[in-house]
Amino acid sequence: MLFIDRCRDCPYQGKAIGPRGQPNSPIVLVGEAPGAREIDEGEPFRGRAGDVLWKAAAEARLLEGNLFITNSVACRPRNPVKPIRTPSPDAIRACHGRLAHDISAHDRAVIVALGATAIRAATGLRGFLVTKKGPGTELPSEWGIVVPTLHPAYVLRRGLDGPEYEMLVADLKHARRLAFGPGV
Ligand code: URA
Repeated sequence: MLFIDRCRDCPYQGKAIGPRGQPNSPIVLVGEAPGAREIDEGEPFRGRAGDVLWKAAAEARLLEGNLFITNSVACRPRNPVKPIRTPSPDAIRACHGRLAHDISAHDRAVIVALGATAIRAATGLRGFLVTKKGPGTELPSEWGIVVPTLHPAYVLRRGLDGPEYEMLVADLKHARRLAFGPGV
């Protein structure tokens, strides 16, 4: 069930979509916000960014069906003046209780934050430069370890044969080792 209690403080207030995936997953992926396709289908990461994410996850030996995935913001961002789709800080704040509800249902899960918005939503950090981070970087959060990585839509724009895709795969592998142990 979707748990939203501060929509009145949010600039979007559109159709909200909930998380999906394995309720017992020891890994929780946090994205940015749903796009048009996700709103239509009612689930996160159904579009082209999702294709990249699930391909990278498979390379890291993580099965889509065994993971749990949610977004920093549950509605599609809109801006009446500019075609900006990045969630505003107000929307991230208003949706924090809903994100907390999704994540905290997964006790001691490793959280993978996909892109700057998710890093901010999960850790409170502003301006963390994910492109400049070293391998195996971990950040603290109120729910436990966060593995920061690139957003799959950014990776798609940079091309799947580049270092950005490698970074996404390496970070997902790191999350797998943290969640299941080094030998798994
Ligand atoms: N789809 C989502 O659900 N979240 C994103 O961050 C991007 C695409």
